[in-house]
Order: sequence, then structure tokens, then C-alpha cells
Amino acid sequence: MMQKNQIISMEITGMSHDGNGVGHFDGMAVFVPDSAVGDVLSVRIVKVNRTHCYGRIEQIVAPSPDRISPDCAVSRRCGGCKFRHVSYEAELRYKQEFVQSNLRRIGGFSLEVEPIAPSPQQDGYRNKAQYPVRLQKDGLCAGFFAPRTHEVVDCHNCRLQPQKFETILETVLDFVKKYEITIYDETMGKGLLRHVYLRHGQESGETMVCLVVNGDKFPHSDELVKTLLNCDQQIVSIILNVNTQNTNVIMGGAIKLLYGKPFITDTLCGVSFNLSPLAFYQVNHDGAQQLYQIAADYAGLTGKEILLDLYCGAGTIGLSMAHRCKQVIGVEIIPEAIENAVSNAAKNGIRNARFFCADAAKAAERLASEGVRPDIIVLDPPRKGCDAAVLQSVAQMSPDRIVMVSCNSSTMARDCAILRDLGYRMQKCRPVDLFPRTNHVEAVVGLCRV
Ligand code: SAH
Repeated sequence: MMQKNQIISMEITGMSHDGNGVGHFDGMAVFVPDSAVGDVLSVRIVKVNRTHCYGRIEQIVAPSPDRISPDCAVSRRCGGCKFRHVSYEAELRYKQEFVQSNLRRIGGFSLEVEPIAPSPQQDGYRNKAQYPVRLQKDGLCAGFFAPRTHEVVDCHNCRLQPQKFETILETVLDFVKKYEITIYDETMGKGLLRHVYLRHGQESGETMVCLVVNGDKFPHSDELVKTLLNCDQQIVSIILNVNTQNTNVIMGGAIKLLYGKPFITDTLCGVSFNLSPLAFYQVNHDGAQQLYQIAADYAGLTGKEILLDLYCGAGTIGLSMAHRCKQVIGVEIIPEAIENAVSNAAKNGIRNARFFCADAAKAAERLASEGVRPDIIVLDPPRKGCDAAVLQSVAQMSPDRIVMVSCNSSTMARDCAILRDLGYRMQKCRPVDLFPRTNHVEAVVGLCRV
């Protein structure tokens, strides 16, 4: 039996879905953060479970050829990036294998997945950042929560964010210091500023600054608006998001406009989208265009189809495909996102799309019982995947094809296995890297009715 603090020699032979290297010792799987496949390591065991243990690198005896020198000083503490220490080629290989092994292990599929589509940009690709702001022992901090903690790792030069976000963040923090704006303290539930949320349109350049506050006013807000507009001429929207709840959820429900419009506009796949702060929008613009292109190919549209876009957000997938089908129906649970979707159809002159706000399971059940027969259903659920009830109703509508877009290949594999039992065969699957340097990977699956 392995003991805590025991030092072992081992080789890393694989990578777990959360970005830890894995090897075996005495028949036990040992997970080691910050390692690379092919590393020969001396490892200190830090935690022993019944079936597996966790270790920490004591010494790299022989480095993996995948290794490069990490280019971020805080990546190990911040936990946002898992692959700063390996080449991008290696990262893509690991991600290809995650998706392949999840399909095999969780879904029992033997289909070989197509080669992963790399992200056009590996740095500065994010169009959204949510920086928690806290007063800690080192003073005012803004950055990212360290994994599984409420501690903010101060980070002002995150390589995943565009440079302009860093400049805006610094400007907000300087303003906060100058006017002695209070900072939220979650244990006391006191203090005003909780998060700085920034979003920008990669094609339009339009930028939103949203301050999440524990209150409904911001002191010297006219001055704040002037200062921000001075700092970045592309800012078109400055808003307060009111969140007075003691919760880990970042955004509250209410919005107060301080300047401009309550949304930004961006273009994706040639369609112009209004995006309110509460509406989901893929964080990697160029990666998302590739993703939607692959999804459209899998959908095999000819212009005659009725397409149901379940979990449609601001309507991005359905509206980018509307010119290639007869009708689009979109369903989404966030009311602001549906308002965006409706206005997005109108502003692009798209008349063959309708949207409604509902829970996917209820909407699918209703559509199925009304006898709606979509030819194609696109499913793009959040990380937890689809409820079994959604999949039941989807199969009941008996579309010819289902395209699943997923940011979690474990739940994707599970859901595809349920669809297999409901009469749908997986034809194709392709991983798409939307989140370089992190352990996250997107994937698209094409299924057809048997
Ligand atoms: N297809 C969109 C959004 C995908 S993200 C795009 O590509 O931009 C997943 C979406 O599912 C989010 O907009 C989220 O608000 C929505 N969602 C989450 N749970 C839901 C549910 N139970 N019913 C309907 N939509 C839901």
C-alpha cells in the first residue's frame, strides 16, 4: 500500500481530462500536476485514495520531449492554464486523446474521431474576462480565483486575455484607489465592487465594461465614465450589474446603464449579433467560427430543412445557418439571451427564425407533443450535458440528424450513448480547440437516425 510522503520513480504515460499527467506504480494510478507525457519523474505522494493517488514532482529525472519552458509566472497558482509547460502540438495531441478516450470509456463508441481543429490564436484569444476584486493581505488584488479557494491570484497580464483588458482593468483599479471605493468582502457581505467583467467584439472592436457591485450605485460614476472613455475609445457600453447576494454566482439579475447601450455588437460567421452581458457568447471568436462551420457541415443543410437549435443563447448557431435552411426554431432559458436572439434575427433581416424562452426539456416535450418535426436538431448544452428528458423528446421528434456541440466530452459521450439507445448512430466526431493552454476542449458530433 502506498503511503503519504513516499517518494517513487515513475513515468507519465497519459493525461487526465483535468490536465494532470498520469502514470502507474504498483498497479495504482498516480496523478501528477504539471507533468507531461513521457516525463520520468521522482514523485512525492501527497494523497492516497483507494483506487488512485496524487503526487507532486520532486525531481524531473528525464523531461518529456513535449516540454517547453512555461511563459507565465502565475499559471501554476492561478489554475486557468494547464498546458503552459508543453508545446501546443503536444496539447492538441492530449486533447485529441481525451475526447477519443471519453467516447470509448464512457460511451462505448469505437468510432475514430477526426483530427482536432487547432485554435487560430493561442494567446489573447478570449473576448471576455471576469476579474474578481478583493482586498487581501497584499492589498487590492484582481485576477482569478485559485482553484477550489476564495483566494484571488493577482494577475494583470494574463496571456489568454487581449492587452486592452489589462489596460481597462488597471484604469478601474486606479479609479477605485483614487476615490476609495469599497471592495466586496464575502465573509462580511460588505463593500461595493465585486467583479470587473469585460467583453469585446473581436471583429467590431466594441467593448463593454461591466462592474458587478454589491449595491445599486457607483460613486463618482460620471467621472468613471469619462475616465474609461479616455482610456479606450472602443468602449460603447458601461454598466453596473447589481449582485447583493452572498453567492459564488458572479452576475446578479439587474443591470444599470451608466453609458452607451446595454450590449455590444459583434460579427460571427458573417452575421451581426447584439450581446447583452447575461447572454452566452463563445469566448474564442475565430475558434467559434471554425466550430460553427464544422457543425454546419455535419448538419448537411440543403435549404429545405427545419432546424431546431436547443440551448441557442443569443441565436448564434441557428442564425449562422438560417440562410441554408427553411426554418430555424431556437430555445434558450435566459430571457436576455432570447431578447438578443430575436433582435439579432431582425437586424440581419432573417425572417425564417423564431425563438422562445424555455427550459430545453419542457420546450422539447411541448414541440414533440405539438407534432413539430425538425429535420435537424442542434444540441449545445452547458457542461452538465442534456437532461435525459431532453434526449427522450428529441428522439420523439425523430429528426434525420442531430448535431451535438459540447464543451464537456464526458457528458457528451454519456448523452450520445443515450441517443444510441434511442435509435441514433454516431457518424462523426471532431474535437475543436476553443480554449488553448487550458484543459478544456470543445467537440462536435454528427448523429443520424438509423
Ligand atoms: N448555442 C449558443 C449557446 C451555448 S451555451 C452559442 O453557441 O453561443 C449553452 C446555453 O444553454 C446557454 O446560453 C445557457 O443559458 C443555456 N441553458 C442552460 N440550461 C438550459 C436549459 N435547461 N434550457 C435551455 N437552455 C439552457
